[in-house]
Amino acid sequence: MREIQMVDLLTQYERLRSDIDNAIFSVINSSAFIKGPGVKLFEEELQEYLGVKNVISCANGTDALQITMMALGLKPGDEVITTNFTFIATLETVALLGMKPVIVDPDPGTFNISVEGIAKAITEKTRAIVPVHLFGQCADMEGIMKLASRYNLLVIEDAAQATGSDYLFPDGTKKKAGTIGNAGTTSFFPSKNLGCYGDGGAVYTDDDDLARKIRSIANHGMKVRYHYNDIGINSRLDTIQAEILRVKLKHLDSFNRARQAVAAYYDRAFPGCSQIVIPEREKYSAHIFHQYTIRVINGLRDDLKKYLQENRIPAMVYYPGPLHLQEAYHYLGYGENDFPVTTALCREVLSLPVHTEMEQNQLEHITGTILEFFEKHK
Ligand SMILES: *Cc1c(COP(=O)(O)O)cnc(C)c1O
Repeated sequence: MREIQMVDLLTQYERLRSDIDNAIFSVINSSAFIKGPGVKLFEEELQEYLGVKNVISCANGTDALQITMMALGLKPGDEVITTNFTFIATLETVALLGMKPVIVDPDPGTFNISVEGIAKAITEKTRAIVPVHLFGQCADMEGIMKLASRYNLLVIEDAAQATGSDYLFPDGTKKKAGTIGNAGTTSFFPSKNLGCYGDGGAVYTDDDDLARKIRSIANHGMKVRYHYNDIGINSRLDTIQAEILRVKLKHLDSFNRARQAVAAYYDRAFPGCSQIVIPEREKYSAHIFHQYTIRVINGLRDDLKKYLQENRIPAMVYYPGPLHLQEAYHYLGYGENDFPVTTALCREVLSLPVHTEMEQNQLEHITGTILEFFEKHK
């Protein structure tokens, strides 16, 4: 059996080697490392795939959030509502720009931000909502867009973990994650569903004026060379990464199907085990399993993780600590017990290996070892 990894990027590379190598060496041979033709081509191909009018690439998913907030004109003092159960980037960019992050508990079943929680957090100063489509499943965008239109708020979707996931509206129409709000952001960090071989990110929007502003801010606030209309930053996707992404974008749907097959295998393995809660699915969203995250509800999550490690199975806790308890964010003034859902999830969640190259014998070993652990701890 091949060594089990959370994400097996080397085996995936071996399968795509000739296309990836050609992509990389074509850039080296052209020496157009920055703003080469592949960057624009990738943006156009991703636009087409997502069905969105504008894709603006940038250096990483955190920059994508920051640039979008700057372009939307969010100002110091504005309140921005986001979830407590996610990677730090959303909270961090809001705080960095001098705005006030307002944190909300997630729904315990889907791990996504709770719409009732958002509704309660809205004040006169609220300007924007930043939902995160966590682990590959979309947040309740109809609920969020309804609140946004009632209170005149901006919506920035953090789709870093959900590239290619479909949101399903009641009338049967589908939209890709990140294309529903005013703008959506993503990351091409190597382990993401669409990942490059370094850092990368992008913003999506149907709003052409906003897209122009985003493009300017990502490029030093410059529309015409050496004329600065906005205060900007330097944030770009390099051409080698863009060419790698062009190769991988062609496989994205099949990558996501491979992850869904792994998830289906895990689903079938655990119903007999009352100590495990499998990830809940909502009818309004596809789930492309950036992570397959179980909840261990008997208090033995850390023991299970250790037992898996002893059996050469990696498993990770995403996320181990609620954001409101992180040292840097003490100044927000939240109390230890303000977010009971997040606090419970941080003790219960465990993400199992999910990637595009998993083999049957690896899945059997993982599920067999988990069930064996719970046999011992009945
Ligand atoms: C990975 C990730 C980011 C940040 O992306 P980087 O490219 O690492 O800056 C932001 N939000 C979420 C939800 C992520 O998973």
